[in-house]
Amino acid sequence: MANIILLGPPGAGKGTQAERLVAGRGMVQLSTGDMLREAKTSGTEMGRRVAEVMERGALVTDEIVIGLIEERLEKGAPGGFIFDGFPRTLKQADALADLLARRNLSLDAVIELVVDDAALVGRIVKRAEEARAAGKPVRKDDTPEVFAVRLQEYYKNTAPLIGYYWAKKSLVQIDGMADMESVGAAIAKVLDKS
Ligand code: AMP
Repeated sequence: MANIILLGPPGAGKGTQAERLVAGRGMVQLSTGDMLREAKTSGTEMGRRVAEVMERGALVTDEIVIGLIEERLEKGAPGGFIFDGFPRTLKQADALADLLARRNLSLDAVIELVVDDAALVGRIVKRAEEARAAGKPVRKDDTPEVFAVRLQEYYKNTAPLIGYYWAKKSLVQIDGMADMESVGAAIAKVLDKS
């Protein structure tokens, strides 16, 4: 059993790899992006506020996402948790350390998917095209314009977590430019060691 964070810019493949881990290892994926998209459809004032922030590509407040994670941690995960898209700020990282410690849970690895910026926007555009072709809802923030804001947010707020976890000796960097299977195999290797 391992609890891990998948870290990386938008389009790095965190969601794809998390889904593989859920299917293959019975882990529980905690994607704050997915939770917030659900909250958006709740018809509440909070949902409307969150929708507006997400559509701009900005970050939702730390309090909201920390609250969402805390709720889900209560439910437990015998196969381990995958934190996908959380934490995204240093404050969230500290809060996660606290929440885990209080439940006697460990953080076993922080896996950074390293991908060239130039490849990212292409992946996002492809994701939108594939969703459209499959008749699935297209994320409003998967446009080149909003993507540029999301990438800025990543470098400003989230990239500092790489140094933070490196200093804690939790960071493992994986080549996210490799094909999906190879990335999956590299992650499996990390999990089997922890
Ligand atoms: P994602 O699905 O991870 O790409 O997240 C989509 C959007 O949800 C982001 O652009 C943010 O607006 C919001 N979001 C998701 N996770 C977080 C988080 N941990 N902190 C703040 N905002 C978040």
